[in-house]
Amino acid sequence: MQPRDLSDHVEYQAGRGIEEVARELGRDPSEFVKLASNENMFGPSPLGADAIRETASDAHHYPTADHADLVARLADDWAVEDDQVWLANGGDGALDYLARATLEPEDGVLVPDPGFSYYGMTARFHHGTVATYPVERDDGFSLTADAVLDAYDGERIVFLTSPHNPSGGRFTLDAVTEIADETRENTLVVVDEAYGEFTDAPSAIDLVRERDDVAVLRTFSKAYGLAGLRLGYAVVPEDWAEAYRRVNTPFAANLVACRAGLAALDDDAHVDRTVETAEWAREYMTENIDARVFESHGNFVLVNVGDAAAVAEALKHRGVIVRDCTSFGLDDCIRITCGTTEETKTAVAELNEVLDS
Ligand SMILES: *Cc1c(COP(=O)(O)O)cnc(C)c1O
Repeated sequence: MQPRDLSDHVEYQAGRGIEEVARELGRDPSEFVKLASNENMFGPSPLGADAIRETASDAHHYPTADHADLVARLADDWAVEDDQVWLANGGDGALDYLARATLEPEDGVLVPDPGFSYYGMTARFHHGTVATYPVERDDGFSLTADAVLDAYDGERIVFLTSPHNPSGGRFTLDAVTEIADETRENTLVVVDEAYGEFTDAPSAIDLVRERDDVAVLRTFSKAYGLAGLRLGYAVVPEDWAEAYRRVNTPFAANLVACRAGLAALDDDAHVDRTVETAEWAREYMTENIDARVFESHGNFVLVNVGDAAAVAEALKHRGVIVRDCTSFGLDDCIRITCGTTEETKTAVAELNEVLDS
């Protein structure tokens, strides 16, 4: 007895945790700064954390009402109908729902290369096929409609990441519109805005309100600091509303996550501080790292360091954990998450010493 043929499937490569690295090196976790997973430098929204504690005594309830409350709040904030907000177990869970709702066996999806690996993973789970469009380093990883449309071959879903992970670049809404206009009627353009709070550009949800072929992904994992709770959502075209009840895993957005998410949405102080600190850190890293730093609109920067594996390893021994981008196909780049002022300065100083040695 064997599982199905999984030879085309790849493992998700997560950024490494402090405990894991500290154990490996036989050192104390407090000696490390982790800037490898684009997590929030200030931790969870304090209002969200309060809600988590207060929800403990209600944990025997299914989250039906809380799910409805959070969806209503998000729909109100984005000026869409409640049914257009597909709440899920993280942004990744929302990607699963979009795949379930669209893909017939052998349907294709078009994904960026380099890019976020879960787009292709979920497509393969749902018996779809995966093609890529290049995000070219020569252009400073600029994200253009032409690069996508040149590679497009009638795929059922086209994934656009904006801001893009790992480069930090972004698509203009005009580019998204052009792609949606030029692709077939049954092609869904999914704009992944996991880092949407960190950019001053308007959300593609503006387009979801006007069109039937664009969906947007958002998450509570980054700016709201709730990655461990697994809460995210897609905003889908109005005509798609009904499909949610047929594709969602019941109660996948859990009670604690729903209550914390709702509270975090009111925590403007936390989000503002997070976004302002990320802006400062991007600028600081760009100005002070002695290597090419690509322009970023997220809470991280991509840096061309030469031998990424060696540099990441040397930094780890110096107590700074960053993301070696070899698994993205960029074996000469590392991705550094924006930390607090102190963490960011430490990372830059250590990196410059490694680059200089
Ligand atoms: C972090 C991230 C997501 C969503 O992550 P979840 O924790 O599952 O919400 C989606 N897309 C990109 C590009 C990301 O970096």
